Amino acid sequence: MLSFTNELQQIRQAGLYRVLREACSQSGPKVNIAGREMLMMASNDYLGLCSHPRVVKKAQQAMETWGAGSGAARLVSGNISLFDDLEQKLAAFKETEDSLVFSTGYMANIGLLSALAGSGDVIYSDELNHASIIDGCRLSGARIEVFPHRDAGALEDLLRKAARYRRKIIITDGVFSMDGDIAPLPLLMELANRYDAFLIVDDAHGTGVLGEQGRGTLEHLDLCANGSVAIMGTMGKAMGGFGAFVAGTSELKQFLINRSRSFIFTTALPPSVVASAIEALDVLQKEPERRMQLHKNHLFFRNGLKALGFNILGSTTHIVPVMVGDPETAVAMADYILGEDVFILAIRPPTVPEKSSRLRITVMATHTRGDLEQALEVLERAGRKFGII
Ligand code: PMP
Repeated sequence: MLSFTNELQQIRQAGLYRVLREACSQSGPKVNIAGREMLMMASNDYLGLCSHPRVVKKAQQAMETWGAGSGAARLVSGNISLFDDLEQKLAAFKETEDSLVFSTGYMANIGLLSALAGSGDVIYSDELNHASIIDGCRLSGARIEVFPHRDAGALEDLLRKAARYRRKIIITDGVFSMDGDIAPLPLLMELANRYDAFLIVDDAHGTGVLGEQGRGTLEHLDLCANGSVAIMGTMGKAMGGFGAFVAGTSELKQFLINRSRSFIFTTALPPSVVASAIEALDVLQKEPERRMQLHKNHLFFRNGLKALGFNILGSTTHIVPVMVGDPETAVAMADYILGEDVFILAIRPPTVPEKSSRLRITVMATHTRGDLEQALEVLERAGRKFGII
């Protein structure tokens, strides 16, 4: 019989053992977990749209109209008209010609990279890019050049040596999912232009949040996509639902429909998910106050952490790392904080690099000032107890 005992033991000994926690209530700033009310500081429901009445209602109505599932892949019989509506709206939102919906961000990244690149091509990837990008790079079979985090100078050095490749692709998170800092997109776009490379921005955490209209990291940096840029966005974070999309040229969309295996060989999203995404997109544009509240909240929270002496790296967003170092201390600290009814988790390797275990905290628009003060108080006690501050 196949046994995993030794490997599991090794994972435990390294302080890297993962467990599933039981969540018993819907997403929000206060959640019920295993019978206890906790302050949620680890959710990606940044704007509170998971439980927005209009978003929920649309999902219910779509389920009544179209049924629970889509029945097949988009290229078979699963392509209900809601997809076209959503894709047009996503493209308008991202200011691109068109977009293509994928089932998840993970699938979008692996499907996009493995379709665009193969042997003879090169992908330049920021060292802190999301795991789905790393897996997409590997799956593509292209040469992978990892550049130091946000280091456009180092990237240029690599690009200079790259003449012999067929396609050159630069890929970066827009907002980095573990550090909460922002990619230097003006420089990356300029490099892409100069070295005839294609730029992909994974804007999972910027979509809906950054920029005046919530269009994402490009808008925040006063940039517009051009024919050499594709944006991946997810609908499971600020949009409060599930799924993902790639926005870019119409030709890119047609190419992905024909070449992206994680699009072709999977069942289309359920109608309720597509309908709720259409509604969420409308809500987040019509209720900019949610975005403004989120910005106020994360500014207050980050300033509070800095004043207490925590190291939050270069975070300038709603994703805030509190650096700890070794995984055991990070887990012990998170356990202490959980014991104080604040839901904050430790993030350890391989999700983050060795020696950079941390607490990863996310701020939401739905947090009150009181919630944030409570979190800061508990973090201060934890920081002192474990010698972090
Ligand atoms: N990219 C980034 C930067 C992410 O943070 C995530 C999700 N954590 C994904 C992609 C994957 O998205 P999904 O959860 O929709 O698979």
